[in-house]
Amino acid sequence: MSRAQDAPLVPGAGERAPSGETWQVTPLHSFPPLEKWDDWVEYDARSWPRKVEKHYRLVPTICFNCEAACGLVAYIDKADGRIRKVEGNPHHPGSRGRNCAKGPATLNQVHDPNRILYPLKRVGERGEGRFERTTWDEVIGTLAPRIRKALVEDRRTEVMYHVGRPGHDGYMDRVLQAWGVDGHNSHTNVCSAAARLGYALWSGGDRPSPDHANAKLILLISSHLETGHYFNPHAQRIIEGKMAGAKIATIDVRLSNTASMSDWWIAPHPGSEAALLLGFAHVILEEGLEDHEYLRRWVNWEDWLAVRHPDAEPSFASFRELLRAEYQSYTPEWVAQECGVDAATVREVARAIGAARGAFASHVWRSAASGNRGGWQVARCLQFLVVLTASVGTEGGTALASSNKFVAAPFDKPPPQKVWSELLYPPEWPLSHHELSFLLPHLLRERGGRIDTYFTRVYNPVWTNPDGASWIEMLRDEAKIGLHCALTPTWNESSLWADYVLPMGLATERHDLMSQETHAGRWIGFRQPVLRVAKEADGEHVEWTWQANPGEVWEEDEFWIALSWAIDADGSLGIRKHFESPYRPGERITIEEYYRWIFENSVPGLPAAAAAAGRTPLEYMREHGAFEVQKDAYRAHEKSASAEEAGVEIDGVRMAGFPTPSRKLEFFSPTMQEWGYGDQALPNYIRSHVHPAELDAGAGEMVLVPTFRLPTLIHTRSANSKWLNELSNTNPVWMNPDDAARIGVASGDLLRVATRIGHFVNRARVTEGIRPGVVACSHHLGRWRLDGVPGTDRWASAPVRIEQTGSLWKIRRTASIAPFESADPDSKRVWWTQGGVHQNLTFPVQPDPISGMHCWHQKVVVGKAQPGDEYGDVQVDTEAAHQAYLEWRALATAPQRADGLRRPEWFARAVRPAPEAYRRG
Ligand code: SF4
Repeated sequence: MSRAQDAPLVPGAGERAPSGETWQVTPLHSFPPLEKWDDWVEYDARSWPRKVEKHYRLVPTICFNCEAACGLVAYIDKADGRIRKVEGNPHHPGSRGRNCAKGPATLNQVHDPNRILYPLKRVGERGEGRFERTTWDEVIGTLAPRIRKALVEDRRTEVMYHVGRPGHDGYMDRVLQAWGVDGHNSHTNVCSAAARLGYALWSGGDRPSPDHANAKLILLISSHLETGHYFNPHAQRIIEGKMAGAKIATIDVRLSNTASMSDWWIAPHPGSEAALLLGFAHVILEEGLEDHEYLRRWVNWEDWLAVRHPDAEPSFASFRELLRAEYQSYTPEWVAQECGVDAATVREVARAIGAARGAFASHVWRSAASGNRGGWQVARCLQFLVVLTASVGTEGGTALASSNKFVAAPFDKPPPQKVWSELLYPPEWPLSHHELSFLLPHLLRERGGRIDTYFTRVYNPVWTNPDGASWIEMLRDEAKIGLHCALTPTWNESSLWADYVLPMGLATERHDLMSQETHAGRWIGFRQPVLRVAKEADGEHVEWTWQANPGEVWEEDEFWIALSWAIDADGSLGIRKHFESPYRPGERITIEEYYRWIFENSVPGLPAAAAAAGRTPLEYMREHGAFEVQKDAYRAHEKSASAEEAGVEIDGVRMAGFPTPSRKLEFFSPTMQEWGYGDQALPNYIRSHVHPAELDAGAGEMVLVPTFRLPTLIHTRSANSKWLNELSNTNPVWMNPDDAARIGVASGDLLRVATRIGHFVNRARVTEGIRPGVVACSHHLGRWRLDGVPGTDRWASAPVRIEQTGSLWKIRRTASIAPFESADPDSKRVWWTQGGVHQNLTFPVQPDPISGMHCWHQKVVVGKAQPGDEYGDVQVDTEAAHQAYLEWRALATAPQRADGLRRPEWFARAVRPAPEAYRRG
């Protein structure tokens, strides 16, 4: 734990602007004015010193390389129709013209010499890696009758769409509900599910939206969010807040870039973060720093008193007294012991939080929430601080994502499906947020069942998920997976086990709508296939986007329209009507009509803004790429509500409140009580499975933190970017010098890291930037491909040989990353060789008993490499992995309800089924 620098790292940080106002965002110094985007002229740098003009058409789109949805502008060379560069879009309200390294790297992805350009069909056995080119007609012609048959035979849980990177708001919900299947699976339970539960219990919204730019105190739990997720839009605003005088506290076991820019870096034992947060709450309550009036009005304290303290006087005064008593034991001294931090710092930060009253911005998304058993309580305890300081939805505070994200309604909404798939939402985890996606191989093995048609969408479960060898076993088993279609812009480890590999577009090759809670405002962004837009602007007719994209790369939007139409060509299944044009009755909708309708009807203010610019709404969005729906979105819960609207009356005034059963902030959760988790109904500390007390120090056990990421890499899609791989190409194991001395290793030495089900071999990076007793290894690296067949791009992947003996799997590299022949001369210049090690394969699944979130942190034993070990080795036993699953599953003890209800009806659920599906028959 340390107090960071006194001198500001950012010039001007800690000062106010001379006028006394906060610092204004500096506009970009130069960017082509919008009116010149149709024909922008620059001199060709390569022709210097001659002045040779190059003419470009600039077309905006939305980045697809993380969830933040920043704006991009593609420069299309009018001479050859090729994209020459990709920059930020200054008209985008979230990113404001700025991007991280991954945005401009879209250019590499588009021009990657090994990208998949045509639909491919498997030949030979699954997993052999042999494919041949096919046509989109053949693909649709195979899939449509197969899916139709499943629907006609009422096998409505056998069609599954499993999404990795979503990148679209609501489109697939509509498609799946038109088909009437319960088949939406996601990656959420290896990502953010725990934090979502913690937030949802408080306020109904399952993700927060901090107003960093206007905060007085910013508390970040690990740097994960700001270095990897929403990196750019949040990073901009955190620095703005810092320049306006905000203090930053970062809780992270590792000295991240963000921690290094913070006023406090606190590195508690992994898994003790909730105790630290309750220590802050204790100090705030003991010193009376909480906002009493806010608590009286907006917290459901009456519910707590009625259920837990029926003998107490039902008054706010007794609530205050009992609240203080509830958290009395979390003294800074106790916290210091439990978390391994300094008691004085706990007091200091707690007082700073209290002093930030009304302007406390905080966020946890993955990190401590996703690493630990009970991690969902980290979010619950963090939000407790937001509530105590009356910072909910305020300027500089923390809002619900729903007040800062704008989702536009489409022209038609099919009815909800009437079935419930227990492969998605098994009964053991009724409160999970969301699908128990990473357990799929174990659920199929344990409970039987089959998936007839399985779509993976920008998803690489073999590599991303824990226990990837169990995924291979499942994917190659045709009795379990009838047909696997990998919809993907890039080769990946999982597509090897597909029957069809279907190339889908990158950021510049597809339509999508995106909006994210980047700040206290709401906007909508329009991703578009820029080459198609350019062709159409030049007067060419394009029927399908694949006709304008490189090769025959398609986009999912049109693929689903074409497939749905073919499934129900005669309309007898009731599907076709949901894909008929709102402008040309009875005819198939075009993608242009789909978005035209939304922009004309569902985006407040857009038609007027477009008219003022002399454009139709669709033309306006094609030109600008984004539209700001609302500025300064604050205090949504205080909006007045009529007697007919959902709301809550406080001091005689009826207001919208929060989407919880009480319409208040639920400090005490009646839902937890009702569903058998009464001991966790309040913000509470659950000691993690990797707390020091749970480790056998004598056996050399340590904690592996595998969740941190490098801000220059995308989950599994940066393998096709030469720039990003040149920036980041190893993931050594961070280790404190104390541990390195004990084990007897130095930086660069080979280590064997043993988990419960296997081990991996990687190099050490010895640094004081990590807590003793903990090792950390970044994800996004350690990519591989089977030797001799197509697979993950060579910029990032090493060829491997896989051996299986019974349940024992061994993966060994057959060569290092090396220069290669291709149409891109840079491929001969690859200088890096390591590429990192695939650690996730060696992790057992560890579903949290309540949230269902995979608990990523691992108990490991770290030692010197053993004779015969080589860099990149991975070994894992899938039988041991299944045993680990069974043990964790046994911890999920939700009682079956007499009324058959599967899940609280007020909870969000992806692609929500009809009410009758919520009850078991
Ligand atoms: S923060 Fe995300 S969306 Fe924005 S440029 Fe980077 S990768 Fe793209």
